[in-house]
Amino acid sequence: MKIEEIIAASGNTGKIREIEKIFRGASIIPMREAGFDEEIEETGSSFRENALIKARTVCRRLGKPALADDSGLCVDFLGGAPGIYSARFSGEGDSGNRQLLLKRMRDAHDRRAHFECAVCLYLPDGRMLFGVGRTDGRILEEERGTRGFGYDPLFFSDDLEKSFGEATAREKNKVSHRARALKDLMQKLELLG
Ligand code: IMP
Repeated sequence: MKIEEIIAASGNTGKIREIEKIFRGASIIPMREAGFDEEIEETGSSFRENALIKARTVCRRLGKPALADDSGLCVDFLGGAPGIYSARFSGEGDSGNRQLLLKRMRDAHDRRAHFECAVCLYLPDGRMLFGVGRTDGRILEEERGTRGFGYDPLFFSDDLEKSFGEATAREKNKVSHRARALKDLMQKLELLG
């Protein structure tokens, strides 16, 4: 399906750039530029539901196709936590979140974890398409590297054999949960013809 203009339901310029790289045919417009400047409450109980809430809210308000994502870190030893609460884990931002994660993982032998991402494209006629992606690794015992954001310095990627904090943006974008979810969505769009 050919869509010429997509509103990115996100205020994060890094994410918007990544979307642009994958959806080459369409022009991607950040929601603020399109006139939507509100916080959307993420009240869903899964990544998929939160992505749907964000994309639907922006699409209904602006009457244009809207794309949203939701993502987080799922740690096996913590039963999948922090999951959808990744951004709010410690209540004290990225650095506080990393400290709390290290504390909770102090005695953990099983350090397996993955990042997960769901993206939703919501169309003005009510149709919606989803893409999902994950990337696997393990939680380090201390931070490595200063690149990226969020939990990146604590996440050792199985694909890259280094931490996301040590990886360049280009390396990370090749294997990231978000890139994989966007590619999954892109393939589904192509299947629609
Ligand atoms: P959101 O999808 O922007 O709501 O992200 C949720 C939270 O998950 C972020 O604030 C980070 O704490 C974490 N997170 C999601 N993706 C990544 C990533 O690629 N690297 C590090 N942390 C991430």
